[in-house]
Amino acid sequence: MKNPWYRFLLFIVLILGTNIIFLLIFPAEPPEPVAEIAYSVFKEKLESDQVATVVMQGDELSGHFVDGVSLPANQLLNPRPGEELLFSRFRTTLPPVEDPELLAQLQQHEVLVEARRAAEPSLLEKFLIALLPWVLIVGVWVYFMSKMRQQGGMGGGLLTKFKKSGAQLYSQQQSRVTFEDVAGLREAKQELQEIIIYLREPLKFTKLGGKVPRGFLLVGPPGTGKTLMARAVAGEAEVPFFSISASQFIEMFVGVGASRVRDLFENAKKNAPSIIFVDELDAVGRARGTGLGGGHDEREQTLNQLLSELDGFTPHDEVIVLAATNRPDVLDTALLRPGRFDRQVVIERPDWRDRGAILEVHTRNMPLADDVALEVIAKGTPGMVGADLQGMVNEAALIAAREDVEQVAMRHFEKAKDRQYLGMERQLIMTDEERKITAVHEAGHALVAHCLPGADPVHKITVIPRGQALGVTQQLPEDDRYHFRFSYLLGRMVVMLGGRCAEKEFFGEFSTGAQNDLKQVMDLAEKMVCQWGMSERLGPLSYSRGEEHPFLGMKLASDKTFSERTAWIIDQEIKEMVQTAETCAAGVVAANHDVLEALAKKLLEEETIDRELFKTFMDGRQLVLPEEGCPDFGNT
Ligand code: ATP
Repeated sequence: MKNPWYRFLLFIVLILGTNIIFLLIFPAEPPEPVAEIAYSVFKEKLESDQVATVVMQGDELSGHFVDGVSLPANQLLNPRPGEELLFSRFRTTLPPVEDPELLAQLQQHEVLVEARRAAEPSLLEKFLIALLPWVLIVGVWVYFMSKMRQQGGMGGGLLTKFKKSGAQLYSQQQSRVTFEDVAGLREAKQELQEIIIYLREPLKFTKLGGKVPRGFLLVGPPGTGKTLMARAVAGEAEVPFFSISASQFIEMFVGVGASRVRDLFENAKKNAPSIIFVDELDAVGRARGTGLGGGHDEREQTLNQLLSELDGFTPHDEVIVLAATNRPDVLDTALLRPGRFDRQVVIERPDWRDRGAILEVHTRNMPLADDVALEVIAKGTPGMVGADLQGMVNEAALIAAREDVEQVAMRHFEKAKDRQYLGMERQLIMTDEERKITAVHEAGHALVAHCLPGADPVHKITVIPRGQALGVTQQLPEDDRYHFRFSYLLGRMVVMLGGRCAEKEFFGEFSTGAQNDLKQVMDLAEKMVCQWGMSERLGPLSYSRGEEHPFLGMKLASDKTFSERTAWIIDQEIKEMVQTAETCAAGVVAANHDVLEALAKKLLEEETIDRELFKTFMDGRQLVLPEEGCPDFGNT
């Protein structure tokens, strides 16, 4: 009972207790019944000479009747059902409108009138009212003081909060994730198997004098399952798992990051064998001394602390550090040297087989209709990573729930897939003219894609506005692609420009609808010329133009490592490439004017044309690839 706050509470409880005991021993006299009556009833009683005395205080009027009066319930403001009482006292309220005759009437009926001042608080009440704010202030002060003392001195609580790493601890029992929950990623699993064996049987490695690698860096695009994999390793090894995002280290106060790193490693060592997982390592692990964000900033201090903690393990600390990043290229080289994160495990984008396996994992507990073919969905979702697939499965379930059906069917997955690839449908009112332009534009893309050998097949064309676009033409490759040939990339540019050329062919002028196409074409041409050495005039050289700056995540205009002359040649090459593509697209569109017109008309009728319908529509139609204007696309 050292705490003053508890003493204060005890004091209050004692006072209340004493009062209650006093009242129990000396119960108050039962009060005389008072009739609460309306002012009109009072006047009536006054007129009939039944009122003996009256006391006026503020707007309250009370007094005695001459004899006991029995009042019917409808005359009482406080009737007690089932009780017939004889009242000797009454109370009423004076009306807000002054009654000038009242005094005269009272005198006339010889009523004894006593006037009192409006009730004033007693001395004790005044004292208590004055005391109340002080009691509150002292109470609050005592409370906060006791809290601070509990957490270690003045301001101690605040500092302790900042020093704590904030890492989330998953114990073995809590939501255990195993390799079974991670679909695909066979190679990564094999590489990480070593950690599991070490954490289970550390002696097996160390008895021969070997040093076990401490740091594993999981590298891969966002959403490919790096965090999931790290948790699965902890789950398989059955050890505690400390997970933190590197950005959580950084606070506004200098030195907090470093102390959080220290706290995290201390905790992990206390719970050894254990795994530490640092997500988005690049948030603190970017190369030092880049001049961005100051020379010696909070981030660098945090990184230094992390480096020294990685060095500071003794051979008996059975702690493994896993980290994840999408940008291993920007990491400080000190992080990657032997003894720190010297092992890199690549977490790849899934191929169609792995996509199928991921879909299986996420549909495990879902009632699926018979028509659902996960393999078909997997083949139709190139480029999607685990997180996208999980999102798509979830979306399909929501769509099915909205339809109020019992099972998730293939059509729900199709809708969910469209939403992922093409964006949400928008309720946009377009004029007929605008719809026509959009239809011609999209038909242009689709027609060119269908004509060019080696281009990805058309999967869907729609003039329903989705996301930012007014219409969409989607092509899906037959298989996952890892290499892109020059002719394929040039073909892509031709398809992208097909929409704009179709508009010109039909309406004689361009519209703003091709803005995004042009941007994509330009980006692609820039990469082909500068990064992939696809320009004959420049030769097999790679220039940093078109690359994103590693520290800003965007392109920098002044980041030039080539001469003005080379810059001029690059511009010429990009321009020539885009012009070649445009000439070809214009030629294809002109040579197939009638088919294009028919396709645009069909699109206006149908609004959405899927792969099958498109195939049926094109079957038997004579398509012409112009002899001049298009480069040789071969058979990519
Ligand atoms: P980021 O780099 O953005 O942090 P990440 O690579 O760490 O992403 P996770 O957070 O692990 O990705 O994955 C997101 C979700 O995607 C997971 O919760 C999981 O459900 C799903 N997922 C990703 N890959 C797989 C996989 N191979 N098997 C099963 N589910 C997966």
